[in-house]
Amino acid sequence: MKTKIEPSFRESVDLMFNRAVALMELSPGLEEKIRVCNATYTVRFGVRLRGQIHTFTGYRSVHSEHMEPVKGGIRYSLAVHQDEVEALAALMTYKCALVEAPFGGSKGGLRVDPRAWEEHELEQITRRFAYELIKRDLINPAQNVPAPDMGTGEREMAWIADQYKRMNTTDINYRACVTGKPINAGGIQGRVEATGRGVQYALHEFFRHPEDVQAAHLSGGLDGKRVIVQGLGNVGYHAAKFLREEDGCKIIAIIEHDGGLMNEAGLDVEAVRNWITRHGGVKGYPDATYIPEGARCLEEVCDILVPAAMEGVINIGNAERIKAPLIIEAANGPITAGADDILRQKGTVIIPDMYANAGGVTVSYFEWVKNLSHIRFGRIGRRQEEGRHQLLVNELDRLNHGIGDAWELSPDFKQKYLRGAGELELVRSGLDDTMRSAYQAMREVWHSRQDVTDLRTAAYLVSISRVAASYRAMGL
Ligand code: NAD
Repeated sequence: MKTKIEPSFRESVDLMFNRAVALMELSPGLEEKIRVCNATYTVRFGVRLRGQIHTFTGYRSVHSEHMEPVKGGIRYSLAVHQDEVEALAALMTYKCALVEAPFGGSKGGLRVDPRAWEEHELEQITRRFAYELIKRDLINPAQNVPAPDMGTGEREMAWIADQYKRMNTTDINYRACVTGKPINAGGIQGRVEATGRGVQYALHEFFRHPEDVQAAHLSGGLDGKRVIVQGLGNVGYHAAKFLREEDGCKIIAIIEHDGGLMNEAGLDVEAVRNWITRHGGVKGYPDATYIPEGARCLEEVCDILVPAAMEGVINIGNAERIKAPLIIEAANGPITAGADDILRQKGTVIIPDMYANAGGVTVSYFEWVKNLSHIRFGRIGRRQEEGRHQLLVNELDRLNHGIGDAWELSPDFKQKYLRGAGELELVRSGLDDTMRSAYQAMREVWHSRQDVTDLRTAAYLVSISRVAASYRAMGL
């Protein structure tokens, strides 16, 4: 029997791209132009740490510049390599097109284990990496705008913004050179939670369509659904927390780098997160069964599987054994192309990464706009909106008194109605709208074309046709 060979992450992205373009009528030249990664810059730099010079390798790939700036996170991990960064950059192109964020695709990575260095050392490393990218305009508000990814967060983004400012002292838009910054350094409310929140909104939209829910052999809404989450980092933690606290899901398993936790009655996400912060992993957590080989938990019976850690975790080695009828790819590339074939044949519904985790780039887009406009969303209109609502409530109260207090507005209604939208409410509203529209664009293709049998192919079709339209508008 011929053993199947697992394609690499980048080959997986290309295979999925090819499957979609085979259903489109693109000229071969344009198809190739969209598929290839435009450029990858590799840098090796030395930093003097702990009395000796350490050399680090970093990458910044630009996949497509059909729109500028290009956008994509910076990842810190020892596993970073050029192919991975290029695959992630390609996904960014398609993701931005799908959620109509006006950016091309890019991605960066630094081969470093962030846990191995002290904070001040990481700052030195980050500033040096940023310096190398900034001087080549690979970080620039108009050309290339990074964001957090695995192993990086607000702290690193603040260092990068500050480094850019030091090197561009007269650039009034310096804060727009990177997104995912802390609020006090030009960030936006709701960015930290954005990707996890987007996963939640994606599931809300999915469950608004009974036909789609049925395709996954499920019924009803999110309440009571049994969920398994892999990776309790930024994305997985927020997704699990919101699904549990706001939608009534039961998180029956959490898988981390050192093993898995299972509890049929549901895990307390906040308590597990605190445990990880204190102990560095899930091992020893009291209210659950500990499974040393965490990946095994991916194969447990559940309603929704949320891989939110890293790529390639569902592959030809375990795809047959995956029982979840619905998988939402919160991480980038968690399902290899080989596994995707197996799962599609089994009838598993997969909500693809380029859509499912697009909440991060969507709110990054809002942050970039905020930085360029130099004003917080809601600052101008909020009190005016509240004033007009107050007028209406006063008038209703007056009319009510006129008819002998026959009815009354409930205090809860008044409180909610009178409150004008601040930045967080506006960001969530914009994110929700984006996730709904993008899902509807995908499902329209999924349901209207006989030759499209899954959401991933539909997502590629929508985004590739948008990227192609941009290139054509440029005369290509
Ligand atoms: P993170 O570093 O905050 O969290 C990753 C988590 O996964 C960590 O808790 C880590 O311990 C855990 N982990 C590592 N190896 C594991 C393993 N083998 N099994 C189980 N858990 C493991 O990273 P993040 O920002 O949450 O990103 C996670 C994924 O989401 C990545 O694929 C990333 O590209 C994608 N993503 C992130 C964002 C964002 O805004 N942060 C946006 C879009 C996509």
